[in-house]
Amino acid sequence: MMAFAYSRPWRGDRSCRHCRWGFLRETHSMGFLDGMDPEVRGISPKAKSSAKFLAYFQLLDAFTEPGCPVCRRLEQGALMALDALLYEQVNDPLTRRRLVRSHGLCNWHAWLLPRVQSSALGVAVIYHHLLKEALKQLQATMREIRPRTRRKGLWNRVTGADAGPLAMLEWRRKRTRCPLCSFAGRSERGDLRTMLDHMGEPDFAEAFARSTGLCLPHLYGALAIGGDHANLPILLAAHEQRWQGLMGDLAEFTRKFDYRYAHEAMGDEKKSWHRALETLVGRAGIFGPERRQ
Ligand SMILES: [Zn+2]
Ligand SMILES: [Zn+2]
Repeated sequence: MMAFAYSRPWRGDRSCRHCRWGFLRETHSMGFLDGMDPEVRGISPKAKSSAKFLAYFQLLDAFTEPGCPVCRRLEQGALMALDALLYEQVNDPLTRRRLVRSHGLCNWHAWLLPRVQSSALGVAVIYHHLLKEALKQLQATMREIRPRTRRKGLWNRVTGADAGPLAMLEWRRKRTRCPLCSFAGRSERGDLRTMLDHMGEPDFAEAFARSTGLCLPHLYGALAIGGDHANLPILLAAHEQRWQGLMGDLAEFTRKFDYRYAHEAMGDEKKSWHRALETLVGRAGIFGPERRQ
């Protein structure tokens, strides 16, 4: 690995309320990805309950923001993890090996990198390494498809030496999943479980009632993990009410496009079409191609 004197001042993202809660706080002390999931890493029961406790309050916080709270936390969590990666893990050999195996990050997570402050140098260092690996595969493939001599080409065809997949395709086949996508699945399941567990509590349910509610993909997730959970009917009823309200807003929005009512000022319905999009498909980018729902 290239020796590189990399330093990047910790900035934190004080504008992000979730960062204050330290959604992925462990990443800063335990390394990129290694510390992201106490359950997976076998952290003590005390730490687990502390993580659960944190998730409870982080969700309450996310309920006050627009959009699906689980989508929001996934995006903020990803930004925090990327910040940790660029802050202290750029030259970490284990992190680098993981990124080489996954060929870096998926499209969604890679394009979050420019949103991390002062990310350019860290991205340049990591992606220089990744491109070097890609170049090796490109050159191997070039050698495969252009034998140095006609005789060797004939020999390869006769012996079947070139019958296997091309090096680049084989390299792609062996690529592991985007590490942040793997984490995102565990994180959202944890949030959905926490929501189901607490929906029976009046304070939590009231806070949830003031939120945008879950997007449809995350509601599917809640159904998948809590099909027989005692609080599932409460969660579903909350969405029935919310979706009826949204449909009313969409109808009102459409009505005001009629020239007879076009003079009427728009209220909450103005952004109803945007809310409907997010309700049906989730926040932009969250359900990227490498996510498994
Ligand atoms: Zn969502
Ligand atoms: Zn990803």
